[in-house]
Amino acid sequence: MEFIVRQLAWRPDTILVRYDCACGCKPNVEYLRGSDSVEHEHCCCGNLHFVGKDARHHLDAYLAGRSQQHLDDDLGGYRVSEVTVDAPWGEAVPVAYALPAVARKH
Ligand SMILES: [Zn+2]
Ligand SMILES: [Zn+2]
Repeated sequence: MEFIVRQLAWRPDTILVRYDCACGCKPNVEYLRGSDSVEHEHCCCGNLHFVGKDARHHLDAYLAGRSQQHLDDDLGGYRVSEVTVDAPWGEAVPVAYALPAVARKH
């Protein structure tokens, strides 16, 4: 998974972290410099990514909640990975993402 980081011209303390999804969508998540809030986007095909401090922890909690409600039973489980992306102000920003074994249709 290749993430693209874009700094907002009108809010230079904010980046968008996105990828070009195989389904055709471009899921993106905002991250504000120094922020403790962790945003995520869950793509229509089942891929999802969280950006920010303790991203992995938030992703795990989110997936556990969905699993309890059997929302993702059709996906055959997720493969979870962690990376960091470089913000233009020199911060390594954590990204956690999960890819389902079976993708949903776009
Ligand atoms: Zn997708
Ligand atoms: Zn899609």
